[in-house]
Amino acid sequence: MLVRLLMILGILALIAWGVLWFLKRRLLKWLSHLQPPTTGTSTNIVSEKLIECAYCHTFFPKNRAIIREEHFYCCEEHASLSQ
Ligand SMILES: [Zn+2]
Repeated sequence: MLVRLLMILGILALIAWGVLWFLKRRLLKWLSHLQPPTTGTSTNIVSEKLIECAYCHTFFPKNRAIIREEHFYCCEEHASLSQ
């Protein structure tokens, strides 16, 4: 009697483990579809704001700007030439 009960419990545990393994795989596959790995790099390039140089009027990324008297310059040379 006890052996039969243990056998039934063992089979049930095996089925439960199989169902959980299947659900885990489905969940991971679904999550990978929600978050494509290429979005991080492309948004960084797009969000980089371009500004105009006050001397040569070319556009360049704001994080490389040289600021002199509330004007933006593309390089140190243009910043000193406009003064
Ligand atoms: Zn310039």
